[in-house]
Amino acid sequence: MYTEVPLFDVLNYLPDGIIIVDERGVILFANESFCEMLGYENTMLKGLNILSILADIDVFQKCISKVMQDGKSLDASTDFLHRDGYVIETTKSVRMIQHNGTTRFFVNIRNQSELNHLNKELLLSKELIEFQAHELSKLLNHRNQEIEEILGSIDEVIWYINNQNLTLSYVNNAVEDIFGIPKEDFLNDPVLWQQQIHPEDRLLVKTFFETLLPGQSQTICFRIIHNDNQIRWLNSRVHHHPKLHLFIGITSDITAPKAQSEEIAFLALHDPLTLLPNRAKLKLQLDNRFEHSANSPFALMFLDLDNFKNINDTMGHKIGDQILIEVSQRLRNTIGVYDFCARFGGDEFVIVLHNADLIWIDTIAKRLIQVFKEPFKINETDFFLSSSIGIVLYPQDASNEEDLIKHADTAMYNAKHKGKNQFVYYHSSMQQALYDFLRIESLIREGLKQHLFELYFQPLIDSKTLHIEGYEALLRFQHPKEGFIPPDVFIPIAEANGDIHLLAHEVLSQACDFIDTVRLMTNDPFFVAINVSAKQLYQEDFAHTLLDYLKQRSIPTSFLKIEVTESTLMENISLISNQLHELKMGGIRIALDDFGTGYSSFAYLAQLPIDTLKIDKSFILPLFEGDSNRHIVEMIANLAHILGMNVTAEGVEESYHYDFLLENKIDTLQGYHLCRPLPKNEILTKLQDEVHYFKPANSLAYTI
Ligand code: C2E
Ligand code: CA
Ligand code: CA
Repeated sequence: MYTEVPLFDVLNYLPDGIIIVDERGVILFANESFCEMLGYENTMLKGLNILSILADIDVFQKCISKVMQDGKSLDASTDFLHRDGYVIETTKSVRMIQHNGTTRFFVNIRNQSELNHLNKELLLSKELIEFQAHELSKLLNHRNQEIEEILGSIDEVIWYINNQNLTLSYVNNAVEDIFGIPKEDFLNDPVLWQQQIHPEDRLLVKTFFETLLPGQSQTICFRIIHNDNQIRWLNSRVHHHPKLHLFIGITSDITAPKAQSEEIAFLALHDPLTLLPNRAKLKLQLDNRFEHSANSPFALMFLDLDNFKNINDTMGHKIGDQILIEVSQRLRNTIGVYDFCARFGGDEFVIVLHNADLIWIDTIAKRLIQVFKEPFKINETDFFLSSSIGIVLYPQDASNEEDLIKHADTAMYNAKHKGKNQFVYYHSSMQQALYDFLRIESLIREGLKQHLFELYFQPLIDSKTLHIEGYEALLRFQHPKEGFIPPDVFIPIAEANGDIHLLAHEVLSQACDFIDTVRLMTNDPFFVAINVSAKQLYQEDFAHTLLDYLKQRSIPTSFLKIEVTESTLMENISLISNQLHELKMGGIRIALDDFGTGYSSFAYLAQLPIDTLKIDKSFILPLFEGDSNRHIVEMIANLAHILGMNVTAEGVEESYHYDFLLENKIDTLQGYHLCRPLPKNEILTKLQDEVHYFKPANSLAYTI
């Protein structure tokens, strides 16, 4: 018997079945794998003849005899019978072993059943696949045509190129429109598409393909040169298909929308009329400065055209627009290339000067003022303009955009108040002035709403009879919290913001109430003199409206006088002269107020319908401080009388004023020495008490 046990142990671990048989076919050894393969216990197989477990005895015997004959090993397929009766397909190799004069056969058996089964299935599937593939290709041919038709009719270019060398494999009809080159040319020359890319964008496209990872999709915008030599903007969405080794893409022409969006982007940051940067761009510019060069100083100028509104109102917006265009060109040409000029609003411009050297800022500011010296010629007509400029310095005056603009604006207003056509550097005190302005402005509006404005009346005394010949109406504003606000404070603010018209209406209505009441008490003639400011007289229908109002209230025009300041008159004499003539024709008398402080030309005075010259109190109060004031008063009185006018002196505070004026033929006297401005009721009380005239205290005499 076979006794080499250790070897059998090794044989037991092999995955193939191993048996050893003698020349008769008796099984001397069977390993575990073989027992398992056939469903037998090891002990049952030992001593059994192999023929009893073979499905095909012939094959085995042929095989054995062949091996014995050739003395070699042999591979063949053999079917064994499982203990349960079914066939197990195997391949086996048989080896003959000669040992101590006995012959043994070593048989190695590999189970082929599963493999064969799989192979059969594979074969079946292969046939099925082939059949399906055939059917599919039939279908695809039909489909391809359909797809080709669909792709051919869309506006986007559909294409795919090799992912290695970027050669074109497919492209649809749309390519012809976008490139202006026939589709066939692209297909015949697979790299033609690369040559159509704008030279500046070629690297961009190349890098795009190089970095587009397999499986990824991405978008790229680039330019091509159309066959008509125009540049077109394309947008491509590309997918990298790793299995097909392709870049597959869809491309559209975005030239028009891009141009539109660029225009929109431009317009978002520029003024469409002058093409200068707008307020939004100014903000970006400043933000940029703060971010990147926070420590480097610069100057910001706020430039506002003087009286531009007049041109716009009288000549129309078309002319106004042309002037604005010309202005912006002149400004742009005056500042440096690195400086920035934006149109901030209607006739407002903001300039940012790169160089913050004070001498340089001064030079540019002067040039900007000079720029307006040349008239603006529009349709053969010369228009004369000027500008007011406020200058603020970064960082000392303000450190953020809002404050810079606010302070430059404040300085610009200051330049306007100082007489326009000049530049002014910002100073912190201006902010206070502006604050005061805004505070008073809001108080005026409150006062108008709450009826806090009250008209006071100051008698005007006839120097010959010492009777009251009239009253000057003076506005008073007593605020419950803020106290008394003098007219010198609120009138200029109301003039500046336009509220003067509302105040004037209040004055006229209270003056007429007063006239009505006094007329009932006395038959003596009298008048109420109201102060009229320049702003009112610039209104073309001023005289007409005033006369109309008196008519409505049935008040004869002789009861009203108006006081116009000399400086108001001289500011725009031609405009105001018409109004004065109309008033005079209507029967309203006119006094020229604060006379002597302006610079009236006598030639004008003679032509204007003026009844009274009111010598300003600044000549009367210091009447005895030196000789000149007395001489001036005498001269004015003579002049007035020569021109057929009356003379009034205001500011008669002292008895020696009074004595002097009386002696020098001043017709009318007004001042604290005679009577202070009083509220309506106090005047009425005096009238009731029949104090018709004022008897001033005895003269203290004076010496010349
Ligand atoms: P004004 O028209 O020159 O008015 C005369 C001013 O002299 C008044 O000041 C009056 O109170 C003051 N006054 C009268 N007698 C004397 C005197 O003996 N000594 C001194 N030192 N002053 C005297 P008030 O009321 O403060 O008005 C100041 C200015 O405000 C007025 O100057 C006038 O220009 C303006 N104003 C007042 N009321 C009105 C108004 O209803 N409309 C307009 N547009 N302006 C007004
Ligand atoms: Ca006055
Ligand atoms: Ca006056």
